Amino acid sequence: MKFNTKTIHGGQHYEKETGSVMTPIFQTSTFAQISPGKPVGDYEYARSANPTRTALENSLASLENGTRGLAFASGLAATDALMKILKPGDEVIATDNLYGGTYRMFTKVYQDFGIKFHFVDMTDLEKLESLINKKTKLVWVETPTNPLMKLADIAEISKITKKHNILLAVDNTFGTPYLQKPLDLGADIVMHSATKYLGGHSDVMAGALIVKDKELGEKLHFSQFATGGILGPMDSFLVLRGIKTLHLRMQRHCENGMKVAEYLSSHPAVKKVYYPGLENHPNHKIAKKQMIGGFGGMVSFSFNSGKMEDAISFFEKLKVFTLAESLGGVESLANHSATMTHASLTREERLEIGITDDLVRLSVGVEDIEDLLEDLKQALA
Ligand SMILES: *Cc1c(COP(=O)(O)O)cnc(C)c1O
Repeated sequence: MKFNTKTIHGGQHYEKETGSVMTPIFQTSTFAQISPGKPVGDYEYARSANPTRTALENSLASLENGTRGLAFASGLAATDALMKILKPGDEVIATDNLYGGTYRMFTKVYQDFGIKFHFVDMTDLEKLESLINKKTKLVWVETPTNPLMKLADIAEISKITKKHNILLAVDNTFGTPYLQKPLDLGADIVMHSATKYLGGHSDVMAGALIVKDKELGEKLHFSQFATGGILGPMDSFLVLRGIKTLHLRMQRHCENGMKVAEYLSSHPAVKKVYYPGLENHPNHKIAKKQMIGGFGGMVSFSFNSGKMEDAISFFEKLKVFTLAESLGGVESLANHSATMTHASLTREERLEIGITDDLVRLSVGVEDIEDLLEDLKQALA
């Protein structure tokens, strides 16, 4: 199957008992057994598996060209389940401008459990390789990053991780499998905040891990089952429903994202626009090689004045864009990184990685582009 068919049919089948075309929401915690240890079907207790979650997990595996998908209560629950296969003394090398919540989990939770983290600019492959030692177990890559849209070359990084026999995990939340497939590029694990583009309607929180290797899939399922951060059946249904239009939504997100980036680039009040589709983006070459089919709907920008007041006044004037955390829904959202998504970092930490006080992050939705540009124009005026 090709990708657009997979979003609708990948890993799916009609329900056998009734012929229901759409996956039912199996709102049950447990399943009947005929005799002790002999369940009626394939299911026993829903922490281990629930048919609605299984349908979503099969869809996820199909989309990312993996063999196993696992669905969690949030993106961070998915990352947490992965971190729990590590042991005290292990080392992790991660992207230096990570999603704030991932950075917080690494430095405020797992560092205290004896795991050591190194943060590095993933475009500096020599630096990355120089940090690898016998204790290194995992390289964690986010591409594009939030909110500065920096890219990492997954194929090149995977050559290094394979050479040293360590795992490579990619947070594919911004890219989605519509734009890039990390497992095909050599990564071992894909992570998603399915709260964003996969769900796509800002009405559910969910997370995912997807792998190619069966043994690694078993290990991660054990972590999911043994520690319990699973996604419920109703939420599994909502993500599965969202995925069925992923390709349609992403196509429009990319079209609108590009037009918004071009508009902002030509606006006199705007200093810098961060969008991998722009030719002047420092990682545009990697983007063209790695992001097939478009550059996504996330666009960040800063003001010529450099003033936080200008950003605040812009947010207050928006009418079509909603000022809110999160991203990846059908509706356009605007976010102030310094006070919202990246408030868990100190101002010094933020400035060090380039998140200035005037930085605006837009999640460009699938509305009519004329309305979006008009809104930006009046808010920038
Ligand atoms: C939102 C987000 C996460 C965390 O996911 P939750 O579903 O909020 O737990 C991780 N990575 C990226 C890139 C995100 O945008």
